[in-house]
Amino acid sequence: MSFRLTYATMYNPPETMHERFELAMTQVESTLGARHPLFIDGADRDARQHAHRRSPIDTGLHLGDFALADPADVEAAMAAARAAFPAWRATPLAERARLVRRVGEIMEQRVYQIAAALTLEVGKNRMEALGEAQETVDFFRHYADDFESHAGYRHALPDDPIKGIASHNASVMLPYGVWVVIAPFNFPLALAGGPTAAALVTGNTVVVKGASDTPWAGRLLADCVRDAGLPAGVFNYLSGSGREIGEALVQHPLTAGITFTGSVPVGRHLMRQMASGAYPRPCIAEMGGKNPCIVTEHANLDHAAAGIVRSAYGMGGQKCSALSRLYVHESVADALIERLQAQLAAIRIGDPRRREYWLGPVVNAAAYDNYLRYVDALRGGGATLLGSEGRAGDPAFGHGHYVEPVLAEVPLAHPLWQQEMFLPILMLHRYGDRAEAMRLANDTPMGLTAGFYGGADEVSWFHEHIEAGVTYANRPQGATTGAWPGYQPFGGWKGSGSTGKAIASFYYLAQYLREQSRTVV
Ligand code: GLU
Repeated sequence: MSFRLTYATMYNPPETMHERFELAMTQVESTLGARHPLFIDGADRDARQHAHRRSPIDTGLHLGDFALADPADVEAAMAAARAAFPAWRATPLAERARLVRRVGEIMEQRVYQIAAALTLEVGKNRMEALGEAQETVDFFRHYADDFESHAGYRHALPDDPIKGIASHNASVMLPYGVWVVIAPFNFPLALAGGPTAAALVTGNTVVVKGASDTPWAGRLLADCVRDAGLPAGVFNYLSGSGREIGEALVQHPLTAGITFTGSVPVGRHLMRQMASGAYPRPCIAEMGGKNPCIVTEHANLDHAAAGIVRSAYGMGGQKCSALSRLYVHESVADALIERLQAQLAAIRIGDPRRREYWLGPVVNAAAYDNYLRYVDALRGGGATLLGSEGRAGDPAFGHGHYVEPVLAEVPLAHPLWQQEMFLPILMLHRYGDRAEAMRLANDTPMGLTAGFYGGADEVSWFHEHIEAGVTYANRPQGATTGAWPGYQPFGGWKGSGSTGKAIASFYYLAQYLREQSRTVV
């Protein structure tokens, strides 16, 4: 039986979905250990060096050898993208949109295999992996539809007759040139594919750099682009180290714009780099979060507990959107904690290839070490661990970077209230005064997502005061996570985002274009 994965199936998966995922996993596992080249100017390109990558699921599992691009490869990719730009820009919008949609269609045919690869490469459970793969498919469709529905943002403007001579006026939006996409490890397909779809449909050509922990996902994207028949050079893929090639891409004189997803320090560095050079160039930077949730005494606590657990611990808290700070009214705190404890006790940790394990490993040894340090710092700083012991590396979990989710009641002076951890650690504070809870929720330089559980008549208060770009009220499917193209535009305020225009929003594509006002007599 065939059916389409959708936003809704992610929350209510039919049995067929499990069967197809398991079949795809067997197929993909039989290909492990291969060598994966770069993709430049419409062809595979071998690199001089390769990274021997192992899976976070089981460090004995060899994923493959992935090309490590060097500066000569950067040069080749940039030159190919620049050479392809004039013809791509001149390609009629309908044809560009058709090719962009075609990439999504091909990806959709492979969605289970790609999801299996994401499970192996990042350690995502199957629902998270399928969710990311299908979301990426939907990005290609969404941006093609969106740009067509805006008719390419071309607008005729009124004539302005002055002294009997009429000027004919129009506004057109034109692509910039070569767009560089720097993808993160946690959504290595969606946050490479989404910006790629946006840049391509608007007429830019693209060079993608995959995160060093996750070179495979971007290569699978490159395969879809190749098989969709896009002209050579329009899309190019580089895997390698950020230090080695990220900087070369940013400083390259042909780089016309960048979309970056990753940490605040790197994002700010890129923005500075893009502001310098011959002239400033656009930099769309999405840079993490320290996302809060407020629970009032009027909340439905079952919905709150379900949404909180999903958002704080899904994918091991390794989402920019993950929930990390929980403010609960003192009158309902014990009751909520009890529900959270029951859910925590039911979380099964282990090899995410298997259906029964909801929580897989964290991405690498550095994340694992950070977890140990943070749990120590919480204990040393007077936190009470509620319902989990902060165990890591328990052999029962498997031979990868496995850690246990942590819920901790933490004194407000603790420095970790201010630090993004990117781990399954949720900090909790009981409040007495709602205004104080809001002050604490906003007491961060970040502003990506925020959650709220309370009475229906409190929701507008939450919206009015919360400083965040993506908000969810009373949602059991997720307190702060789970945005989907076409449903929830996704972008940060304050330190979380450089532009205030969210992914897949009505305003997103305009960022990949520059306006030309045309007045002709
Ligand atoms: N789109 C994902 C969500 O809403 C998060 C993406 C990210 O973490 O960067 O949960």
